[in-house]
Amino acid sequence: MIRLDLCDLCGATFPRDDAVRGYVPDSSSVSRRNDWYDGLRLLTACRADHFAELRETYRRRPYTEEVLWAAKITRALTQGPPALSVVDLQCRTGLHEPEIRRAIAWHNSHRGPGAVP
Ligand SMILES: [Zn+2]
Repeated sequence: MIRLDLCDLCGATFPRDDAVRGYVPDSSSVSRRNDWYDGLRLLTACRADHFAELRETYRRRPYTEEVLWAAKITRALTQGPPALSVVDLQCRTGLHEPEIRRAIAWHNSHRGPGAVP
């Protein structure tokens, strides 16, 4: 059986073996399994020119450190036992306290009350 994949640009399905893949910087992307890939997004495209177009789109997007930190904090808060203090969050995210405070401030200024995180 042929395993299919989906192009991130055009949405076409194609055999997985033909995929063009690569990582691009994306501050809103954190890995669920491996924080080595935090800040990177894996793109999948059906052809090389579609991959190039996707890569260009991400290259033009601003890369905001606070966004990445907020994503790390969200992951820490949604996995495992609740983090009760900033010290807990520091241990679980590998961030320093000023980074956590800036990330929370950024988060609060960009999401209104009741917004879905
Ligand atoms: Zn495509």
